[in-house]
Amino acid sequence: MEKQERQSKSHVLALPIPAQGHINPMMQFSKRLASKGLHVTVVIFSSKVTKHTRRLGSVEVVTVDFVSYEGKLSSDDYSKQFQAAVTRKLPELVAELNNSSGHPISCLLYDSHLPWLLDTARQLGLTGASLFTQSCAVDNVYYNVHEMQLKIPPEELLVTVSRLPALSPLEITDLPSFVQGMDSESEYSFLLNHVVGQFSNFREADWIFVNTFTTLEEEAVNWLASQRSIKPIGPLIPSFYLDNQLEDDKEYGPSLFKPNPDGCNEWLDSKETGSVVYVSFGSMAALGEEQMAEIAWGLKRSDCNFLWVVRESERKKLPSNFVEESAEKGLIVTWSPQLEVLAHKSVGCFMTHCGWNSTLEALSLGVPMVAMPHWTDQPTNAKCIADVWHVGVRVKENEKGIVTKEEVEGCIREVMEGERGNEMRRNSEKWMKLAKIAVDEGGSSDKSITEFAAELGRKFH
Ligand code: UDP
Repeated sequence: MEKQERQSKSHVLALPIPAQGHINPMMQFSKRLASKGLHVTVVIFSSKVTKHTRRLGSVEVVTVDFVSYEGKLSSDDYSKQFQAAVTRKLPELVAELNNSSGHPISCLLYDSHLPWLLDTARQLGLTGASLFTQSCAVDNVYYNVHEMQLKIPPEELLVTVSRLPALSPLEITDLPSFVQGMDSESEYSFLLNHVVGQFSNFREADWIFVNTFTTLEEEAVNWLASQRSIKPIGPLIPSFYLDNQLEDDKEYGPSLFKPNPDGCNEWLDSKETGSVVYVSFGSMAALGEEQMAEIAWGLKRSDCNFLWVVRESERKKLPSNFVEESAEKGLIVTWSPQLEVLAHKSVGCFMTHCGWNSTLEALSLGVPMVAMPHWTDQPTNAKCIADVWHVGVRVKENEKGIVTKEEVEGCIREVMEGERGNEMRRNSEKWMKLAKIAVDEGGSSDKSITEFAAELGRKFH
């Protein structure tokens, strides 16, 4: 046994974008790889990691000081600085880890938003594997924009990508936000290039992984797979929530935020089954003051219990008397243990910005949604939630682009009360079962992970 432990293993170095919605799936993928016998180190370039365990199960976590990502997403400069820092540091880090771990690194697993890391992998003689953290439907849209943007005018391209063969017909407003705006020069042009750039060396990467599962997006997966081999490996959710067994795999791991206050679970325990609306717009979305007020009063009008995540940076936008006026029914926190919240029996509905992780988490835990997309891939996720998977309703904006309190109230009531809500709940439970099947031993996602681990092991020995 001792001898076996000392034997070196194939070692994967995993590098997510330092944003919560990217760290979480990369951590989870790393834990699954480690469970297949690989040694995995995750390196996070951020000074903001608050909860940092050096070792999570069999995964090592290394942090490198770098300025926080939050609020800098649209900055070209930030991307350039990040790329410079990573390419400078990585060869050093690989050499250090090769020495200290006793397991030579053989593969660089990188976030698809960092396609230039394939060159670094090649220079270091490593296998290059890319993890796509958005849905396969969204991947298809970006892929097609990438393939066609130099060939046809933007107006025509917009129509083409809203009619892709593997997706249900999309309105322009269902497309990812940066694609919606591509026919005009906008502040988001940089971001459009960035998301489409994920496909710049799509064919050259050794492995492409997608955080989805085949039964959820069968046509989209098959279509993208017709372009090159891809491996759906999701949903990348801690196994505790998928098979209810591994008590020690209940969290993603490193976080850029601390749950605050700590008492969400006790508060939820005190509420009736299915009576709470959980509201969260993820780690980045920033809403206007008027919109915050409409949500606040909409929640109050719904007369439901609610748990609302309002990040510290958003807090000043709450109506001044709201916290006191809603204290009887509501709890406002700056960050929640989201998976535990969604798994709690008192939660009956999730009002979400439709970030891909939040969407997969709700689907995998059987919680119906009120979809309130903000930007990036969220409108396309909202379309699928409402019209493809039938697990939620999507809010409508008024002519000023605001979701009114009456609309918030109506959508919450639709999910929390009546037959349509029950139907959504039944559909959610169906997806929850299919998600479990995909990640269970021998399921489609599990098989892909096993295949990758076996292939790396073979190359290594
Ligand atoms: N999350 C959390 N607590 C919160 C809000 C979000 O733990 O209060 C987690 C959530 O479970 C998810 C991630 O942060 O895994 C957010 O990712 P998502 O793709 O949903 O949205 P993004 O933050 O990237 O917009």
